[in-house]
Amino acid sequence: MTNMTSTGTALADALTGAFAGHFGRHPDGVWQAPGRVNLIGEHTDYNEGLVLPFAINRSTTVAVAARADRTVRLASGFPGAEPVEFDLDTFTPDQAAGWSAYPAGVAWELERAGITVPGFDLFVSSDVPVGAGLSSSAALECAVALGLSDLTGAGLGRADLADIGRRAENNVVGAPTGIMDQSASMLGTKDCAVYLDCRDLSSRPVPLGLAEAGLVCLVIDTKVSHAHASGGYAARRASCVRGARALGVGALRDLGAADLPGAERILDWETFRRVRHIVTENGRVARTAELLGTHGPLAIGELLDASHRSMRDDFEISCPELNLAVDTARANGAIGARMTGGGFGGSAIALVPVDDADRARSAVLAGFDARGLPAPDVFAVLPAEGARRL
Ligand code: ADP
Ligand code: MG
Repeated sequence: MTNMTSTGTALADALTGAFAGHFGRHPDGVWQAPGRVNLIGEHTDYNEGLVLPFAINRSTTVAVAARADRTVRLASGFPGAEPVEFDLDTFTPDQAAGWSAYPAGVAWELERAGITVPGFDLFVSSDVPVGAGLSSSAALECAVALGLSDLTGAGLGRADLADIGRRAENNVVGAPTGIMDQSASMLGTKDCAVYLDCRDLSSRPVPLGLAEAGLVCLVIDTKVSHAHASGGYAARRASCVRGARALGVGALRDLGAADLPGAERILDWETFRRVRHIVTENGRVARTAELLGTHGPLAIGELLDASHRSMRDDFEISCPELNLAVDTARANGAIGARMTGGGFGGSAIALVPVDDADRARSAVLAGFDARGLPAPDVFAVLPAEGARRL
């Protein structure tokens, strides 16, 4: 038995126990979906552009049992996530409050896609940090989507399940996020990133080769909380729509570097910089995937750095803590670093030679401490398998 399988079995057993303790019965199955790190390609997904995320070895696990009626009962081990009960026949998105909007939204979107979902009991457990920009939300959606799809025999493909998760997040949670997070969680493969074209949704695994190159990917969770549903995310999305409309294209994906001088003449300075981030970021994603194939991860540091500068200065979605994390990691051994995820808080990533990882971590902790900031969490992540049944 491999290590992964024995860990998976132990986790399934523990969750089965928690489920039984809460609901007084046994689950029909246990499903798991990972969080993600975005290597590069930020805010490009809803502009029909390119992204390169990878699923990580931090996951959300759900135990689910179908019911004979249309009642849904939801519980989570996450502190503060109160149990919720509702009826699928009378459920509407405006009833969904707090954490239950994610699993309830998935059930609702499955039904809207024509799949009859029975009532069910569901218990959640997770080691994806919540609100850290590692997409605990997509991990939860994808674990629930795969579980309900298996239970109903709906047999939806992985890309379709990712889209069910996105629609739950957009329409029921109310966060206007793109398809990247759910795609990474559903399509991830071990040691690879997912190169995803968010226009035609074609994807392919791109081997990362981190271990072979002697690199680790450190996550620096700044503990600054972001709020997608209400914060600047929606404002950035609106800027992109405005820019595309003014430039006469369906989506910013349709623009290349050669279009930027013309765009600068037409657009106001702020909208232009939003557009420039998307256009240059798409170029960086394509170049990163290419370089990974030809030269390996040691060659992509400058692209990560350039991506961070673009998010900091043009898209303006970074914050002082993220900049401190990135700059400190870079000054202490990292070959490249950038904030990851929607921005306004959350996490940064740094690619660091194995031998420098402790130094980089200590320097980041010391840097935060010296400025009187709460200590960040700094930990290594591995590119891992996507959602699966345990
Ligand atoms: P991120 O996706 O970056 O972690 P989000 O704000 O998009 O942050 O999603 C976090 C929300 O997802 C939480 O506030 C909670 O409502 C829900 N959530 C995530 N994981 C769990 C969990 N294990 N149990 C209950 N709710 C969860
Ligand atoms: Mg999220």
